[in-house]
Amino acid sequence: MAVPLLDLQPQLAPLREEILAAVTEVIDSCGYIMGPKVESLERAVADYCGVEHAIGVASGTDALLVALMALDIGPGDLVLTTPYSFFATMGSILRLGARPLFVDIDPVTFNIDPLAARELLESRPELAARVKAIIPVHLYGQCAEMAPLLELAQRFGLAVVEDAAQAIGALYPPARAADKAGWRRAGSMGDAGCFSFFPSKNLGGIGDGGMVICRDAALAEKIRILRVHGSAPKYHHGLVGGNFRLDPIQAVVLEIKLGHLPAWHAARRNNAEGYRRLFADSGLLEDGSVLLPAAVYREQAQAAGIDDYHIYNQFVPRFARRDQLLAHLRRVEIGCEVYYPVPLHKQGCVAELGYHEQVFPEAERAAGETLALPIYPELTEEMQREVVAAISSFYRGERRGG
Ligand SMILES: *Cc1c(COP(=O)(O)O)cnc(C)c1O
Repeated sequence: MAVPLLDLQPQLAPLREEILAAVTEVIDSCGYIMGPKVESLERAVADYCGVEHAIGVASGTDALLVALMALDIGPGDLVLTTPYSFFATMGSILRLGARPLFVDIDPVTFNIDPLAARELLESRPELAARVKAIIPVHLYGQCAEMAPLLELAQRFGLAVVEDAAQAIGALYPPARAADKAGWRRAGSMGDAGCFSFFPSKNLGGIGDGGMVICRDAALAEKIRILRVHGSAPKYHHGLVGGNFRLDPIQAVVLEIKLGHLPAWHAARRNNAEGYRRLFADSGLLEDGSVLLPAAVYREQAQAAGIDDYHIYNQFVPRFARRDQLLAHLRRVEIGCEVYYPVPLHKQGCVAELGYHEQVFPEAERAAGETLALPIYPELTEEMQREVVAAISSFYRGERRGG
């Protein structure tokens, strides 16, 4: 049985009539730019995340870009971030004429290593003086270690822009994890949090979309103005912005889907637990062929009665001989993908900037060892068995083959 990495059809089917009706209403209204449907989604996402302000934008990439613009990041500035993320994290920095300052990742979570960040800032005062912001990425749906990062940001006067494109809804524990009300949603902890509604994200539209959330009213206002070419009032441009608007067709679809998000997150977590059982039974964990991704906040969360400690936008184990396994899975039609084969500091567009000489061993090792498996909410237990059986047969065949 072929198993796709992601299948949006079973999610669409039960919502299709409701979505068609909502989209039809927008079409018939002839109001195609911004308006009450976008405002309604902004209110709903702000409430869900526990913040005051949300600004709908055209993509997750634009969310990062406009947040950095609003924080006045520009030429000469450095932005501390991870070399192991989707390109937009770095691209938004470079497009503003600023430069990324990379710190390696924690090999357990794949997120930026806060200790390495601290060591870098403390040992290189000439660099620290130029760092204006930090972009932690909550990779694969699990929050980066925010407490030490926020402390660093405070100490060095850095703005914090959370790249929560893969993590809408994920919760981060407070100092006293048992304090249930103290858990905070991804994106709500820094100065600004950025979401993507790309169709493959946990909350995905029927095209591109994104959102910035923040707690500060003045920053929210500035982002709203930058979203429409820096225009306030209309045709008076005190700032240079862009066209970063979200359209109401995406907004109505996303608001319908937002109501289902907690159940979809739960289904993804259930699938992750399914993989943990199946791989444990397979024997592949003991012999080191497979290393499953850690849910580092799970125990604290379960003790506190918290669900969304991880939202599993991706389920990404490490595998021995990853590339051979990948070829095998392609042959037997098991969907999988390498996120990300080339770390950001090795990308061609930064060759001239001296990044290729830098070394981030954990990011490079992750790029060479990881493979994302299907984890979408509607994935069945039978399909999961198929995935694990295909992986088992690869390693068994390899042993037989010598
Ligand atoms: C998807 C993603 C983005 C960009 O979002 P788009 O909506 O595709 O522009 C940025 N950062 C990360 C980590 C992402 O996964």
